[in-house]
Amino acid sequence: MIWGPLLRTYKNRYAAFLARTVIHKTAPADFFLKFMSKQKNPFGTAAYVLTFDFDFEKDIEAFPYLLDVLKKHNIQAGFAVIGKFVEKYPDIHKRAVDAGHEIINHSYTHPDNPHWAPDRYFNKLPYTEQKDEIEKAHEICHKILGIDPIGFRTPHYGNLHTESVYPILAELGYKYSSSTAACGYKGFGAPSMHSHGIMEIPTGCSLNFPLAIFDSWNMLRKKKPFLGDDAKFVQEFQKTIQVIVENKLFLTHYFDPYDVIKNGKIDIILETLQQSNISTILYRDLFN
Ligand SMILES: [Zn+2]
Repeated sequence: MIWGPLLRTYKNRYAAFLARTVIHKTAPADFFLKFMSKQKNPFGTAAYVLTFDFDFEKDIEAFPYLLDVLKKHNIQAGFAVIGKFVEKYPDIHKRAVDAGHEIINHSYTHPDNPHWAPDRYFNKLPYTEQKDEIEKAHEICHKILGIDPIGFRTPHYGNLHTESVYPILAELGYKYSSSTAACGYKGFGAPSMHSHGIMEIPTGCSLNFPLAIFDSWNMLRKKKPFLGDDAKFVQEFQKTIQVIVENKLFLTHYFDPYDVIKNGKIDIILETLQQSNISTILYRDLFN
């Protein structure tokens, strides 16, 4: 008796899974739009949050230029910063705060950063050490930069992200985490409530690669990159923004500063944002 309906449910689910797989492979842009259209955009109008992760010394070297070019285009961004770097380079971080950019807590040492924490993995740390990493970075931002971040990004995102960060963030009075990938998270690329009163803001994908994070690592730098070419990278960004604008969607990306200042990619990204009918906002604007 029960097998008929069960089998039908299973068959339907399998058919839906197959359809999704096929459409993703054959018509990724259709898949992207269908997926993103399910989101609840809290702004109701096309909105974009630009963020950067400062993981390595070469990202710090790119910092002054990045601040200059953001100023030139009158765009503010979110900077996921490491406590260790704030201690080592306080002035450039202070300059970012003075320019109105948002500071995102990115842990104290960024396990497995080769500079200080080569063999540590955030998700493998005991709860007390995870808590220490987050709290210490927070205290440094407070003491050195004079600000209290309200958001956190797990070092290395998805793979090293863990549920245990949410109670830690709640205890610190944080409002959000941006540590998941849009393709694997329930919000369809938009912010949604996760747990412990913390909002999760997943990092976004792009029009032709809806199941990957759109960043320079995936698109350009890894062994078999999706694009492998700077011109294609900016084209993909431009096409994606166009679809976001046309459909009044929410999107957020993160970039590695060192990678995107190379060959003027950041200039084109900022020009695209400035010229398209999109609001560039900050994560903290979600809570005002
Ligand atoms: Zn990082």
